[in-house]
Parts: sequence; structure tokens; C-alpha cells
Amino acid sequence: MLEPLGQILTEEKLITQEELNHCLEYKKLNPGLHLGAILKHHGFINDHQLAECLSKQINWKCFRSQYVPDHAAIEKIGLDYFCRHQIYPLKNGSVIPSFVVSFIDNVEITDYLKSIFGHTGVNFYIGPECDVRNALDLIVLEQNRAKLLVRIESLKSEGIDALASWLNEIINLAIITRSTDIHVEPTGKTTDIRFRIDGICASITCLKPEYIQKLANILLTKCGLRPCDYGIQDGSFFYEFKKMAKTVDVRFAQTPTIHGPRIVLRLLDKERAAIPLESLGFSEHNRKMIDQAIVVPHGLIIITGPTGSGKSTTLSAVLNQIKSISKIILTIEDPVEITHSLIAQVEVNPAQDLTFGKATRSFLRQDPNAILIGEIRDRETAQEAIRAANTGLQIFSTLHTNDPVSAILRLKDLGVDTVNISSCLVAVVSQRLVRKLCPFCKEPFTAVRDKFEAYKAKYLDGDIQSMFRPQGCRRCRNGFLGRTVVGEVLLIDQEIKELIGKNSLGEIYALLRQRGTYKTLIDDAKALIAKGETSIDEAIRVLG
Ligand SMILES: [Zn+2]
Repeated sequence: MLEPLGQILTEEKLITQEELNHCLEYKKLNPGLHLGAILKHHGFINDHQLAECLSKQINWKCFRSQYVPDHAAIEKIGLDYFCRHQIYPLKNGSVIPSFVVSFIDNVEITDYLKSIFGHTGVNFYIGPECDVRNALDLIVLEQNRAKLLVRIESLKSEGIDALASWLNEIINLAIITRSTDIHVEPTGKTTDIRFRIDGICASITCLKPEYIQKLANILLTKCGLRPCDYGIQDGSFFYEFKKMAKTVDVRFAQTPTIHGPRIVLRLLDKERAAIPLESLGFSEHNRKMIDQAIVVPHGLIIITGPTGSGKSTTLSAVLNQIKSISKIILTIEDPVEITHSLIAQVEVNPAQDLTFGKATRSFLRQDPNAILIGEIRDRETAQEAIRAANTGLQIFSTLHTNDPVSAILRLKDLGVDTVNISSCLVAVVSQRLVRKLCPFCKEPFTAVRDKFEAYKAKYLDGDIQSMFRPQGCRRCRNGFLGRTVVGEVLLIDQEIKELIGKNSLGEIYALLRQRGTYKTLIDDAKALIAKGETSIDEAIRVLG
């Protein structure tokens, strides 16, 4: 008889009895869900903890090495099967077929695999769901990118009738390349299609110029908007990608250019769970300070950085960390990107006059412990955020500024006086995203300080340093795979509070320099370069 998962988790003190009871009640209403998935959805445990406990429960080893695909197994039963059930076919040097699974709620699956591959026995491992998914995504990417591009090109020659299926293939390609946005741009001579992948736009293909209106109409109809109206329109639709068993929330935005409607489709992966704070890539130094800031029960924590620097992902991770049955948390977001249990989420809606500021004011009557305000971009929101923080609530928000001190300046510009800022500000986290070097093809080289310009040399650790540069292989696009955070955390302690209160913002950096322990964005990027996680040129692209 297997020991129940809930019992193992409570014995290991990973969850409380109250959390377990809550999830068991939840399971009664959603019997199809695995208890582990429910606990994860509530943020009570993470992928790695669940994998450890499942491996104890059913006595399968936890898989911790590199995921290398077994192409023979894929050929035998097809990649779709593995993706549908989130099972990774593993080539690990053993003659016995091996598989990594993150959940086993169905013996039919293991029985099936045994019946197909089990002549000499079958090895099963438990793996954290995020690792299994990522590893599977890479196989789908490798197998499908070339095929999809060929299909997109062949549909193109079939003319305008094939546009709807062509559009589906484009969205499929965007999903498997982990693109965040699809840009459809009329140039007068062509209709250009570009994807934003890891923050960089890449050209995919182009169509005849007359196709743009037809494409716009297909999308407008999907969104339930007025077709043939090529002015400013926003909408959304759900798109199902069966191959990867994914549903994507597609946000549509259209703007009229001189050559016709320009369209952006933003792809929001609905199944994407909040990434745990420890997996975002913050350095240990920064992590410790963030942890210190988020346990302060009241006050304002701000994340700063330009658009696309991962601010909302960090906020989501923070919420996931602080949420609990004993707290009421409300959010106002534009749009809601990741859905949370135990948190009430509201989306900005200008049509109903539902703004960041108005929502925050109404939240105060909802008896909250914490509020997330997607962004502070006007006076009203700034005032409401400060007011809420001063009434003893925990407030999280973002600002479009470059570094922590300019965040304080920005609040001042928005009409908050420095005494109020000083009384409620807890911490400012500044962040950027840099692309990570592909581990399969990155190329080592020796950097010599004398050969570098000053703007590059500031990223070097010594006079001669071994580091890596991108190369490119079939697993990555151009030498990079995924992104990580570069961060800078300013904790507002008593001394800094006093400087803010006295309106001596210029002295803050001098004080930090004098202390010598403060780490800037550049310091953090330097450490990533030294570890071979990113390249010097990538750091310059993002930080200058
Ligand atoms: Zn590569």
C-alpha cells in the first residue's frame, strides 16, 4: 500500500494540515486533477518538492541529469503521445528503455509503455514537471521548426483561400519557438511576419501585400470584432495547439498605418504556472534581499525596468511566495498573464472605467492583506498605492524606470512627497532579461582586457578572463536558449529612509558605494558572464 502523498508532504513539513485539507476539498470538486497538481496550483509546493515526494511515494528514482531524447522510442509511438502525457523518452546509456514522468495518475500509460518497450524491462523516473515540459518542448522545436516553415511556404503558393490554415501554422510555429509576439506588418510591397523570441524580433516570412486585409478579417472575426474595420481595435481569442497539448490566450491589437492595418498577436500561455522565485535567475545576494523585503508585512515594493524586462513574471513569483490561506490578496493587471489560486485578479478595462487607480481604491473596501497594482503610471495610481501602503497593507507594483533611485524620483514626479515615500517604501528591485548562451554550442575563448574598449572592459573580472560566446546549433536559433534575470535590489533601511525624507536622493548612490556591498545591474551581469551564462555582447545589448 502506497503512503498517501499528502501524508508525506505534511510529515516533511512542506505543507500544513490546513493547506492539505483545503486542497482535498478542492479535489472533491475537481476529481480529475492530481493532488500534486492542486498543491502546486495553490503554490504550497513547487515542482522540485513534488517530484522528490512522488519519488518517495512510489519508489521511483528522481531524475536529475541532462535530458537527452531517445529518438528510436519517439519514432516508434510518435512524439504526440509523449507530449500528450508529459512523458520524456530518455536516452541515458542504459539498454533498458527509460522514461521520465512528472505525474502518474494513470496506470494505463505505464502499462502501455511496458507493453511496447518492455521486452527487457522499462525504467521509470520521476522528474519535476517544469523540467519535463521544457525538455519535451525542445524536441518539438527541433522536429517541427523546419517542417512548419516548409508547410508555411507551400500554403503561401496556394493563394488567398489557404490563408486561414496558413495563419494556424504561423501560430503553431510561434508557440513551438516560444515566441511572445507575432507581428504582421504591411509595408506596401509585402506583408511581413516577424516573431519576438527571447526579446528579439526575427523575420519569419512575407506574403503578398493584398493579403493583409484578408488576414485582419480572419483575426477580427476570431476575436468577435467588426471585420473590414481596419482602425484601432483590440480583442482576444483562445487558440488550441494540439501537438503540445497547449491552450494559448492570444491578445490581438490592430493599429492603422499608411499601408493598412498593422497587427500584433501577443501569446499568453494559459497553462504556464507562476515560476518559483528561486528559478527566475536572481543571484543569491539579490534573492536574500528580496526575501527580506517580502516578509515585511506592510509597505510598498516596486519592480522597475523597461517593457519586456520580466517585471510581471517576478511579481507573479513574489505573489506565489507570499500567498497563503490566511491572507487576502487582490490584483489589478493589464492583462492578467498568469492566473493564481487564492488570489482575486482583476483586469484593467477602460471601457468600464476600470483603471489601476480606481481598482486600488475599491480594493481597500475588500479587507485585503496585500494588493498588486500592475503598474504605476499616473498620479491617481501613485497616490492610491502610497495611501494603501500607509494603511498597513503590502503593496506590489512596477514602474518604468531604469534603476532604483530613479524609481523614487519618478514617484516624486507623480506627486508623492518624499516624506510619504520614505515612510512606506520597503524595497526597489530593478531588473532586465538577458539571453542565456545555449549550453550545447557555446564557445569558450580568452578575453584580454587590453583588446577591449572601455564600455566592454567594465564587464571583465580580471585582465585575462576565460568566457563564452554564442555559436549556434540545431537546438538553438543563434547561440542563445532562454533568458535569465539581471537584477539590482535596493533595500530601504533607516539611513536611506532619512536621505529620501530629506530629499537628498543624489546622496543615496554615494552612500551605497561607500558601504561597498551594493551590487548594481552591471555587477550582476559581470557575474553571469564569468559563470558562462551569458556573453559580453548580450550584456551590452541589454545594459549598454
Ligand atoms: Zn546551440
